[in-house]
Amino acid sequence: MKKDTIFALASGGGRAGLAVVRVSGPGAGGALAALTGGGTPLARRATRVTVGDPVSGDTLDEGLAIWFPAPASFTGEDVAELHLHGGRAVVASVLDALGGCPGLRVAEPGEFTRRAFENGKMDLTAAEGLADLVAAETAAQRRQALRQMQGELGALYEGWRGRLLDGLAHLEAVIDFSDEDLPGGLEAAVAGEISALEAEITGHLGDDRRGERLRDGVYLAIIGPPNAGKSSLLNRLARRDAAIVANTAGTTRDVIEVHLDLGGYPLVMADTAGLRAGGDAVESEGVRRARERAANADLKLAVFDREVWPDVDAHTAELVDGDTVVAINKIDLGPVEAPTLVGGRPAFGVSALDGTGIDAMLAELENQVAARCLPSGSPALTRVRHRAALEDCREALRRAGGAGESELAAEDLRLAARALGRITGRVDVEDILDVIFRDFCIGK
Ligand code: GDP
Repeated sequence: MKKDTIFALASGGGRAGLAVVRVSGPGAGGALAALTGGGTPLARRATRVTVGDPVSGDTLDEGLAIWFPAPASFTGEDVAELHLHGGRAVVASVLDALGGCPGLRVAEPGEFTRRAFENGKMDLTAAEGLADLVAAETAAQRRQALRQMQGELGALYEGWRGRLLDGLAHLEAVIDFSDEDLPGGLEAAVAGEISALEAEITGHLGDDRRGERLRDGVYLAIIGPPNAGKSSLLNRLARRDAAIVANTAGTTRDVIEVHLDLGGYPLVMADTAGLRAGGDAVESEGVRRARERAANADLKLAVFDREVWPDVDAHTAELVDGDTVVAINKIDLGPVEAPTLVGGRPAFGVSALDGTGIDAMLAELENQVAARCLPSGSPALTRVRHRAALEDCREALRRAGGAGESELAAEDLRLAARALGRITGRVDVEDILDVIFRDFCIGK
């Protein structure tokens, strides 16, 4: 079946110096010729072109064209890139002209990358790495995404799958041939390999979600009694240069999230605004929500009020644990003696009002965030999808290890290999492709 030819703006929308429009598919060469009034330019060379509307004959822009004939292109198909001036009207007119070319249509989100995957240009983990690279907001996120795009994670999983398939082949030999024809100890060797793989996968799964945390951001809940200054503290942090996404509204109207780049590591801080001690019902609802948030967060910032010091709010103090950074706010009203411990954790005296102590508290937060993201040496799994497939794989390996019969063990090894193959996209992934590529933007 011949594929249609797709096109889209590949660079960001809006006014800019340049805009890049990408066309991929069997009609890319014809469309390029139609818009630039010539033949196809030299392969992989930037060629100066005048871009015009093939129907009206209007000149639309002066730009560059790059022609990537199949299969040496991003998608593996014929690809044309037009580098235009980045004005809205220029881009709109060129997209219109392309839409008028027979057999061309606007690309779906992620469709270019999906074609690259389908044409064997990259495996699924690399495609996901590319999506993460485009979405990366901090240096550490960028490094992790780039390594994944370059195949680090895919190579790990394919390596495991290869060893599994070797074991399976040996086991099938045991099933099919008599003992005399085979070297001794084959079954024992396979059993050893199964338990080694199971241990490696268990180690990989037990990385404390570092890769996922780095990708999604480390979640920090600000907890503390009403009026301790939680919102003021969040606002002060949001105003810093480090705040990379200003107060994005969260899922509920009450929650604001601030994304901070702490030394290259992403921190997402959430505070439930508007929970005030207006009445008993509101207050207990506030406590309930704070507890829930604290329970779901990776880290907590417990804020106590210098105004009532040394009284500490019991609800909050109860939640202080090894994942908590403690702050005593409003030290502009009077210092707190250092070192001060609350719930066994050192307390940082800060003032949301004048900024005193904020840097020291942030340095501690940075340490805590980095400790939760730092790679443990081997590549980190970055998605729930990977985790689920690896758990299936490990489960099948466990069953294979416990199965007395070679036939049963072989079947479980087949299932284990399938689970790994789903991560890289080697086997039956049709059903998950839509989900994966939907998260891309158009033009990627
Ligand atoms: P929240 O209920 O914990 O979110 O507290 P808010 O941020 O709304 O602050 C409660 C009150 O404390 C407000 O009147 C703030 O102006 C005041 N406040 C907050 N931080 C400081 C601070 O560092 N110093 C002083 N003196 N007042 C503060």
